[in-house]
Amino acid sequence: MPKVFVVLGSNIEPKSRYLDLALAELAQTYPVGFAASSAYRSLPYQGLEQAAYLNRACTFETTQTANVLLESLLALELKLGRKRTGLHWDERTLDLDIALYGDLVLSSPDLTLPHYDLANRDFFLVPLLELDPRLVDPRSGQPLRLLLEALPPSLKTQLEPWPDHDQG
Ligand code: ATP
Ligand code: CA
Ligand code: CA
Repeated sequence: MPKVFVVLGSNIEPKSRYLDLALAELAQTYPVGFAASSAYRSLPYQGLEQAAYLNRACTFETTQTANVLLESLLALELKLGRKRTGLHWDERTLDLDIALYGDLVLSSPDLTLPHYDLANRDFFLVPLLELDPRLVDPRSGQPLRLLLEALPPSLKTQLEPWPDHDQG
């Protein structure tokens, strides 16, 4: 079964609650090999004027095809209050992006794998590396660790570990 890595993001309160609810549902739907990263706060990508984001990643194994998985993630976003305004990168209760689907490399109108911007986003790379420090980007063949090291300062989001709300 392919090992999948999904990155979760929220920038509408209660952010950690949206992420917890999403992770609980994902863990139930995709129990095989399920693990979740800790939470990180990031400033909006590319200097967008928005509230800060909370990001986490999770991994699991599934027999679902990548397209079926995407449908199921989009449905979960809607269930947790995601509104699509037509604005790209608009504020959201929950965003679920497939970062990696095994070694699959594909580009279709609805789905690009790995995520098209994986290499440029510290808020993807850091939680993914927490789950597996040896991950490799199947598109470039580069270890994610090296992609993170190569990230230019202009793309960094001042990512910082965010304490779990239950632990204060
Ligand atoms: P970005 O993709 O730059 O992070 P976004 O997450 O805000 O922006 P959305 O509006 O959530 O973008 O998604 C737009 C579409 O992206 C989805 O409907 C989906 O069809 C498509 N998409 C393509 N590749 C992926 C992927 N790897 N994971 C999730 N969605 C994807
Ligand atoms: Ca996204
Ligand atoms: Ca998305």
